[in-house]
Amino acid sequence: MTAAVETKGRLQITHAADHLVLVGSIDETAAVLDLLASARDRRLVLDLAGVAFINSLGVRDWIRMQAAAQKAGLAVELRRVSEPLVHQLNMIIATRGDAAVTSFYAPYQCDSCGREESILIDAVAHATRLAKLEPPPVTCPECSAQMAFNDFPERYFSFLAPT
Ligand SMILES: [Zn+2]
Repeated sequence: MTAAVETKGRLQITHAADHLVLVGSIDETAAVLDLLASARDRRLVLDLAGVAFINSLGVRDWIRMQAAAQKAGLAVELRRVSEPLVHQLNMIIATRGDAAVTSFYAPYQCDSCGREESILIDAVAHATRLAKLEPPPVTCPECSAQMAFNDFPERYFSFLAPT
């Protein structure tokens, strides 16, 4: 089966079997409200690893999309949320709505070799640790030393707090 790809403004949307993959920028031309039409079995799963930017109009539409999903009783799952979107989720609580974040990227740095890397964190597997605002341990892919979390945990993980 070939996945259908559509382009809305500066956002590319790939329709996979049970989820949508979003790549690019979310602004007013992305029409994110339309994404709800792709919900299956009252579920909408979005892969957000490739979203590099969201502007204020994109945020406005995103909040409308979350509100509409809530009203329609659709469960929204956000997967592989990129760092720029995590910052957005932390700034404006309404951008998360009722959505479940199952994994997200977080900035790490290796003090031994200086490598900086955006690491994918499994929010479900590490739920207990993250609730205590403890960054999951990460091994440096370059030198195998323990990497350090490169932000303030109480700020970066605040979107995971129960609403
Ligand atoms: Zn290293």
